[in-house]
Amino acid sequence: ATPSAVMVGVGRGAHLGLLFRNAAALEHAAHLDTLVLDKTGTLTEGKPGVRSVHVLAGQLDENTLLQWAASLEAGSEHPLARALLSEAAQRQLALLPVTGFAVTAGQGVTATLPDGTTLRVGRVDWAGDTDATIPPARQDETLIGIGRDQQLLGVVALADTVRQTSSAAVAALQAQGIDVIMLTGDNQSTAQWVAQATGIKTVHAEVLPAGKADVIRALAASNKHVAMVGDGVNDAPALALAEVSFAMGAGSNVAIEAADVTLMRNDLMAVSHAVALARATLRKIR
Ligand code: ADP
Ligand code: MG
Repeated sequence: ATPSAVMVGVGRGAHLGLLFRNAAALEHAAHLDTLVLDKTGTLTEGKPGVRSVHVLAGQLDENTLLQWAASLEAGSEHPLARALLSEAAQRQLALLPVTGFAVTAGQGVTATLPDGTTLRVGRVDWAGDTDATIPPARQDETLIGIGRDQQLLGVVALADTVRQTSSAAVAALQAQGIDVIMLTGDNQSTAQWVAQATGIKTVHAEVLPAGKADVIRALAASNKHVAMVGDGVNDAPALALAEVSFAMGAGSNVAIEAADVTLMRNDLMAVSHAVALARATLRKIR
């Protein structure tokens, strides 16, 4: 392989919004046959909005629940955290100073309010239990629970939107003979809804961050040439294991640092362009 031809390819990539870390990334992209996509922030915008708030414990009201949730999430970079913070700002709710903030990857966050109350904000089953009926989420909604001492105080329904280019990009990749797989920490029904909207047939949902890396490992063990696209801190271990890894430019720094290629325009179509460019470049070399 002539290094100069590969370098020309890397330069072309820059014009297509693809920032290759090195020449090897371009060479690997020519051979990939399986592409694993994170959902939130990759297939979707990663900018969910609050749809509704449901109080499940007496004496609380919507705004108090949101104020507490946002106060905890002030320390988090998760897209769901940003959604809770912007809803609280819109309702002009002041953030309370919390202590002991901690993140549980793929589950949520914990912290203590000024009055000494320790709360959990995150996956409903992780946040707490309740006797009250949890309102059913619509297919495109993710429910977040707010819990105290294993008691669920309330839930917030949030919804994200699928990126405009996602379904065309999935179709283009499939036309290139690439097997496209979704991998997400989110719940089954939201995952299936996004899969349907984008034409993805294989879905792994409710996967913890460590489990994301296991999925890549298993595919590699069955002799697949695996690429991964992600945006979050939780995607970094899986990105590091993939033969070629892509990070959304708007994603977290942790994901970008773990990736071989950064998508500067946050457009999945660029992954298809990367494959075409890599294949064309290697054809010229041979
Ligand atoms: P994805 O793989 O779709 O990017 P994550 O692994 O980041 O999802 O999160 C999986 C689930 O964990 C979320 O759908 C949410 O229920 C919960 N979660 C994780 N972090 C937070 C947080 N900071 N606040 C609330 N919920 C969270
Ligand atoms: Mg994500």
